[in-house]
Amino acid sequence: MAVLVQSQININELDPIDPLKYADWNNMATTIAYGAWGLAILIVIYHVIRLATMSDAKTKYDFINRSEIKTFWIASVILVVGCAFYANAAIVKLSPLLIFVRIFTTGAMGLIVALIIQNLLKFYYPFFIEKRLKVLRYKPRVSPKTGKAMKLLSEDEEDAYLDEGMQAEEEVFSVDYDVWKDEETGYVKIERYSGHLHALQCPECNYQTFKVVREEILKNPSAGEEGELMKHYQCGYCGYKAKKTVTLKISQKFEESSAATA
Ligand SMILES: [Zn+2]
Repeated sequence: MAVLVQSQININELDPIDPLKYADWNNMATTIAYGAWGLAILIVIYHVIRLATMSDAKTKYDFINRSEIKTFWIASVILVVGCAFYANAAIVKLSPLLIFVRIFTTGAMGLIVALIIQNLLKFYYPFFIEKRLKVLRYKPRVSPKTGKAMKLLSEDEEDAYLDEGMQAEEEVFSVDYDVWKDEETGYVKIERYSGHLHALQCPECNYQTFKVVREEILKNPSAGEEGELMKHYQCGYCGYKAKKTVTLKISQKFEESSAATA
């Protein structure tokens, strides 16, 4: 073996291509690549396990909404970095020009792949997320008192369980409250869904990327008069903007109670 290596080195003294010359770098790059791939897989597994161990549908909903795309994006970047090292882990020949070419092509390829993944996550993946979120939102909640499925109250029924602030928020801002009721014991579970985090389908490009970006009250409602609220929507994909005005009324209950205190 030693003889073999010796003879190789002898040959390579004449030939500039030495397969062992960059062995240290190649080994390190391979290790970094495997490490990065392993880390990316671990991040995804950790996310999946955390999700699987959450029993509450609303907790799952918020977790997916808040972190799934972000987590997958981080894992993808680490994966691509791993690929970049792997692509440069079998170097036998280098020169200043070759180093430049390798850095340039690796960087460019990595960037292209990362951009493709980013676009998939940003514009196609939300469709998939949306379906799962819908299932989670309307999955019957189980009452901790009886262990039986609770009933989701209708918009009219739920008002009795929402305080004035919640009702106003629901009427005005892009917020939805779901009220689940255990009919046997009267136990109630209220869940809040924010429109700022929830994208709609864009009327222009049809992607699920149309969100409320700003809400402003143009006119405050008073006892006799309706107010006005402007909702500003913007598409995260094509940039399409839309405004929608909503009339603000002081809710019936609020009016009654303020009339009662007056
Ligand atoms: Zn759009």
